[in-house]
Amino acid sequence: MVPGIHRPASVNVNLDAIKENIRNEKKNLKDGQKLFAVVKANAYGHGAVRVAKAALEVGVAGFCVAILDEALQLRRADIVKPILVLGVVSPEYAPIAAANDISLTIPNLEWLKEAEKYLEKEHLQLKVHIGIDSGMGRIGFNEDEDLIEASNYLKDNPNFFVEGMFAHFASADSADDTYFKHQVEKFNHMKSLLTVKPKWIHVDNTAASVFGKDVKSDIVRFGIGIYGLNPSSNPASSDLNSQVKLTPALSFVSELTHVKTIHKGDGVSYGSTFVADKDTIIGTVPVGYADGWIRKFQGFKVKVGNSYCPIVGRICMDQFMVELPEKMPIGTKVTIISDNPNDPNNIKAAADYVDTIHYEVACLLDDRLPRKYFEK
Ligand SMILES: *Cc1c(COP(=O)(O)O)cnc(C)c1O
Repeated sequence: MVPGIHRPASVNVNLDAIKENIRNEKKNLKDGQKLFAVVKANAYGHGAVRVAKAALEVGVAGFCVAILDEALQLRRADIVKPILVLGVVSPEYAPIAAANDISLTIPNLEWLKEAEKYLEKEHLQLKVHIGIDSGMGRIGFNEDEDLIEASNYLKDNPNFFVEGMFAHFASADSADDTYFKHQVEKFNHMKSLLTVKPKWIHVDNTAASVFGKDVKSDIVRFGIGIYGLNPSSNPASSDLNSQVKLTPALSFVSELTHVKTIHKGDGVSYGSTFVADKDTIIGTVPVGYADGWIRKFQGFKVKVGNSYCPIVGRICMDQFMVELPEKMPIGTKVTIISDNPNDPNNIKAAADYVDTIHYEVACLLDDRLPRKYFEK
């Protein structure tokens, strides 16, 4: 969607917080460990290029993204550090990745053989990370024989440089580490089968690192922590404590565009799910589900001026309404999501309200909301 630069609504990103979170995590790294900043999905909605540049200011060894286009976006922004695409890229695009010095994940044997054909044709060498499915059940090798075959295939193969091998944890954010340990065991077993020697072997995500899991990983793929959010994200459980201080970077703000009093019997929004039982002051905010502020947020309290006010009536595509305690001027600031974790409208609380995780709330915020950056 086209960014709404003439509308008072934006996602504000505190680059100082981003840098501070990375600095704090760097102090938490184990000996020799490197930090790769995960900036997939437009840096979890925060803006990939600006976040990546802020990360470079404090020093990171590389970046992870999910799709090839996200890697190309960083290259086009003159970022030269290593970039790993964590998802599956169609083998036909292996030459594009190689030509741009972008590392790809090998998800399976078929991929490897297919990619080789395309690389051979163009006489290009691709940097690869062998994906291991140690229990995430998503992509990567999960059978010994396949991994051994791939490993032998890669050995002395001029089309590939084996830069890494990695797996992903399904439950590093959980207090119960039974499955985590099972994954570590399986990974270590798979590792022992290799006949090639990857430069970096890595398993840590934010959770494994900030909850101090005892596991060897040459790289920490640091995602949600960059944005200052605790990865312990099960809405039903309370947060595990991060040993790294994390400061949220994102807030979502707008303004009142319309204020009025409605009277007993007057409804608000589609289906009149709210009907006034007395004179009621209603404010309108120019943001809706098309911005990623989904209908399930009906009833959630956002901050208007100094008051927390419930969203009343259904959230529309482009606007929603709030019940105000008193008449407030048009232009009054509305903080839909606060970057202060102590505020009741912090992103974790918002996510809990709609039964999801803060990762999803941040990613939902559409490009129609311009990203505004500030730092000291
Ligand atoms: C997204 C992702 C990460 C980052 O996870 P966080 O919980 O945000 O730290 C790391 N590794 C892989 C494979 C991922 O897909």
